[in-house]
Amino acid sequence: MASAKQNNNELMEKIVSFSKRRGFVFPGSEIYGGFANSYSYGPYGSELKTNIKNLWWKNFVRSREDMVGIDGPIMLNPRLWAASGHTSGFNDAMVDCKECKKRFRADHLVEAATGKDLEGDLAKLNEALKDGKIKCPNCGKSNWTDARNLNLMFKTQMNGIDEDVYLRPETAGAIFADFKAVTDSMRVKIPFGIAQIGKAFRNEIIAGNFIFRLREFEQMEIEYFIDPEMKWEGKFEEWLELQEKFAMALGAPKDSLRRHEHPKEKLSHYSRKTVDIEYLFPFGWGELYGLAHRGDFDLTKHAEFSGTKLDYFDQVTNRRFVPHVLEPTFGLDRSILVALSAAYHEEDLGEGDIRTVMKFPVALAPVKIAVFPLLKNKPQLVDKAKEIFSVLQKEYTCEFDDNGNVGKRYRRQDEIGTPYCLTIDFDTLEDESVTVRDRDTMEQQRIKISDLKDYFKEKLV
Ligand code: ATP
Repeated sequence: MASAKQNNNELMEKIVSFSKRRGFVFPGSEIYGGFANSYSYGPYGSELKTNIKNLWWKNFVRSREDMVGIDGPIMLNPRLWAASGHTSGFNDAMVDCKECKKRFRADHLVEAATGKDLEGDLAKLNEALKDGKIKCPNCGKSNWTDARNLNLMFKTQMNGIDEDVYLRPETAGAIFADFKAVTDSMRVKIPFGIAQIGKAFRNEIIAGNFIFRLREFEQMEIEYFIDPEMKWEGKFEEWLELQEKFAMALGAPKDSLRRHEHPKEKLSHYSRKTVDIEYLFPFGWGELYGLAHRGDFDLTKHAEFSGTKLDYFDQVTNRRFVPHVLEPTFGLDRSILVALSAAYHEEDLGEGDIRTVMKFPVALAPVKIAVFPLLKNKPQLVDKAKEIFSVLQKEYTCEFDDNGNVGKRYRRQDEIGTPYCLTIDFDTLEDESVTVRDRDTMEQQRIKISDLKDYFKEKLV
């Protein structure tokens, strides 16, 4: 991850406290004093998360003929992680301050102090830590233990299995494990991709920055299989653009995204090219998504370790080969953080009146329409509002609110990003129309009840 270029901790703190107050993200195990930077997605947060997953699945699986999806297990045969190199090499370097005993990720510490990215190079990290210039961010001293590698996979035991079992550190493993089952059962034609959304677990040395770095998180990953003789550069660029487009569909402005190509000397031996897509989070630039050309490394290794042939027969060219793979990977929790930080707005309406409004793209908004009877003690209004609510609720996530004055109800819905509020008043009983108020413009419009379905069909695509 690149180091922070801009600090906007005030915004970060606001988003964290807003997320808790309005039911988006709660600290995990809070009644027990919290637990290891874990979080729960609350009622609105889990709607937002589901909407992001659905948008991703729709974009990358349902609407494409060259993609299929799977949903694989979290615990896989341990040999798979030996084959992929995770058992021996999925490490981060940690270092402890001998004075205050605080632990850090060595490469992040060195990068923050010197700007040099020494990830994966223990010798150089130790050299940098020994020269006395890198101070402990906690106590200010420079007295470090040796930096040493920590394997990031969580180990567990399983009944009837003698060896250690791991919680998957990425979702990609299950995709390679199912390559044969997919090609045997589906009529996929190269180039094609297999997609998966699911949990991954990494025993990160330091978790933090809210939901940016968690030990239990979700990924949305694709393995896109191509002919090894294909000119891949165009496809690679295409995937990068699709990844950026997806970030923009979450609300990210174009200029809050940038690409970071891994320098040749930092590439894994099998990778032809790896690019991170970074986002300007409130705490600075950080990796959001990644794209790597992984050659035939994975299929070849899994074939070797499993003893199962993993290749593809191309009927068009009459050739049998081990496909190469492009791997676009998307972090779901980081996508949620993008959606929250891009949507958060405070608007000064004058005279000290600040409107907090989450300007989510409509596809992401946890609640699409709020329905209000003007007064809660007038049964005719409440009944009419309930009738409209029950019709709209069949198609959209709706909320019914009859509490307090309408202005306050608007503000509550603005805060959770509801694009439309609909008020049933006394005129409704006469003219069969309602007031529809737009979250962003705050403009109000009278719409006939009979036109509501078409109106929302157009607005809430
Ligand atoms: P980083 O450099 O930030 O540790 P990484 O390069 O190890 O990330 P990948 O292995 O490429 O990440 O994982 C793919 C995606 O999964 C990342 O782009 C990110 O969105 C997400 N991700 C990785 N680690 C975490 C984590 N600890 N918490 C939340 N999301 C994560």
